[in-house]
Parts: sequence; structure tokens; C-alpha cells
Amino acid sequence: MKIGQGWDIHRLENGRKLILGGVEIPSEAGSVAHSDGDALAHAVIDAILGAAAVGDIGTHFPDTSTELKGADSMQLLSEAIKIAAEAGLVPHNIDSTIILQSPKLKPHIEGMRRNLAIAAGMDIGAVSVKAKTNEGLGETGAGRAVETQAIVLMEEL
Ligand code: MG
Repeated sequence: MKIGQGWDIHRLENGRKLILGGVEIPSEAGSVAHSDGDALAHAVIDAILGAAAVGDIGTHFPDTSTELKGADSMQLLSEAIKIAAEAGLVPHNIDSTIILQSPKLKPHIEGMRRNLAIAAGMDIGAVSVKAKTNEGLGETGAGRAVETQAIVLMEEL
């Protein structure tokens, strides 16, 4: 078994899309990003790459790449799973947390779990997504950022 951890943060601005776990969330403000700004997918990708000790999301999917402008992060997640498989690892389970002041994410959690499970080729029962606010504290609490954390356990093939 190998364990990996990932973290991400994106600035939020009015008029941008807010995509988390492949779900477009109705929101006034969305992620500022080179890709689709899916901070949940990015934390999960970093956890997977970290477990395999094969670098990070910036190494494999650089934000300077014109090919990756507006990229679907669910596809990047599938790519990360392939990279890990080449290193001899498959995901056993994922746990993750989104820290966002608003809107409430509860209605979207199941959709996120399903999307992550499909992209990672896993059972939905092995994919956990949790959401909380930052209690109004700091930049995230002021609604100027979305933060994510993920941890993944990988098994040797
Ligand atoms: Mg990111």
C-alpha cells in the first residue's frame, strides 16, 4: 500500500464557472484557472501522483501548456490514474474535503463522488467527498477562495 496527499486552492471571481468534482455548481463566483479550475480534481490528482512518487500536477499538466487551456480536469484525473498504473499502483480509496464559504455543496456531493469514481475507475463506495465552510475566517472564509484536500490509498498491482 502507498498513501498520497493533495491540496489545492483557487481564487474565486465573479462571472467564472465553479466546477468541483466535475459538477458545475450554480454560483456567482468561480475559479480563476488555466484549466477548468476544478480544485477538487486537482487535489485528488496530486494525491494519486504523490502516492506513486511521480511528481505533481504541475509536472504532468503544466499551466503553461496551451493544450491544457480550459482542460477538463476529470480527463486529467484519468490520465493521472494511467500514470500511477504505469508505476504499478491502483487506487483503493479516496477521501477528500472541500472548504468553501458558499454556496452549500450538499446537493452536489453525490454527483462529485460519481464523477470522481468514473474518472478514476473506482467504485463510488470507495470515494468520499466532504464539504465545510471556513467559519468566515481568512480569504477562504471571505469567499475569495476555494480550498481542497485529498488523501488516497493506492495498492500495488
Ligand atoms: Mg488547481
